[in-house]
Amino acid sequence: MIVSEKMHELGSKRSTIRELFEYGKQRAAVIGSENVYDFSLGNPTVPAPSCVNEVIRSLTEELDSLSLHGYTSAQGDQETRQAIAGYLNRTYDTSFKAEDFYMTVGAAAALCICFRALTSSADDEFIALAPYFPEYKVFVNAAGASLKVVSPDTQSFQINFEELLKTLTPHTRGVIINSPNNPSGAVYSAQTIEKLASILEEKSKEFGRPVYIITDEPYREIVYDGVEVPFVTKYYKNTLVCYSYSKSLSLPGERIGYVLVPAEADESREIYAAVCGAGRALGYVCAPSMMQKVIARCTGQTGNILLYKENRDLLYEGLTELGYKCFKPQGAFYMFVQALELDADAFCEQAKKLDLLLVPATDFGCPGYVRISYCVDTDMIKRSFGAFRKLKDLYDSGNAE
Ligand code: PLP
Repeated sequence: MIVSEKMHELGSKRSTIRELFEYGKQRAAVIGSENVYDFSLGNPTVPAPSCVNEVIRSLTEELDSLSLHGYTSAQGDQETRQAIAGYLNRTYDTSFKAEDFYMTVGAAAALCICFRALTSSADDEFIALAPYFPEYKVFVNAAGASLKVVSPDTQSFQINFEELLKTLTPHTRGVIINSPNNPSGAVYSAQTIEKLASILEEKSKEFGRPVYIITDEPYREIVYDGVEVPFVTKYYKNTLVCYSYSKSLSLPGERIGYVLVPAEADESREIYAAVCGAGRALGYVCAPSMMQKVIARCTGQTGNILLYKENRDLLYEGLTELGYKCFKPQGAFYMFVQALELDADAFCEQAKKLDLLLVPATDFGCPGYVRISYCVDTDMIKRSFGAFRKLKDLYDSGNAE
């Protein structure tokens, strides 16, 4: 093969989610979009808050084209990084500075940068806690390290500490956490983060080098019922934060986020330099200029999260009433539901025959479960209950194929 076999494979094989989404579009063309219940993608349905468009309009009036669309410095605009630091310091009582931030094209780039920056040998390992975002494996492998997976605690969807303890080795460079979680919707409690911090402190001492937490936080603000998301750097200093505005500001296509390397982290300046180096090596320099300026003026804003809560409540109550076993999400916009047979892929195939598009959680490291994205039109959820009922009846009557 004249190209990298690995890259060829990655580029040729669509993810299960993308595959389903494409199928949904084809099916809608045949039977009408109102008859397809597509719960596959995590694409925000709540519009960006009005400040986004207002700021874009004023920026185009205030700034000439060269200042608006020109390169910023590789790590991002000083003013933007200062604004983000100020917002976090006011909100979480922290003391970050502009110099601690590196602006990126979304959380995906932030994660790739962190894995690349921390990997120094082919033996290096990162740990993901199932259920986990499947792209972590792609990103970690691309950095030249390997991904180890800790199986889920399906009672609480907090951390399976017993297994984590067995998975940590002197090769572990970092543990990836994602709370609010895609796909479970769980939010790690302060108690969970405290316990994780204490285990990693002990292990770092034992191994003679820090085990970092890489916290992937695109859903930080998307929480319900007053649930608080602990700010991880306050519990564990060796934490790198990967943030994205894709979900909180509903700007997934604008590709904007950041890496935060707190000054109190061990070897903080070396890590920050390696983050800049990884950004350079990967070509992730100078995140989109105009979006950086938008962020500087919209930090702390979100779309109307109550609309997601309405969908969550409707779906949770509807499915529970039909007899499905659902984990009640505390955040993000996904519901995790137990499949009606052990093989979640077969269950999703069965659902597909009823034009109900659900994502099997096999790739998320959690067999037997499915993910239902509820960042969808509320009416579609209402229309889908008939299909969910038929699906349940098929299994109850033993007629599922
Ligand atoms: N991490 C998680 C858990 C996600 O769900 C997503 C996107 O869905 C990402 C990272 C990537 O986000 P971004 O659009 O900011 O690259």
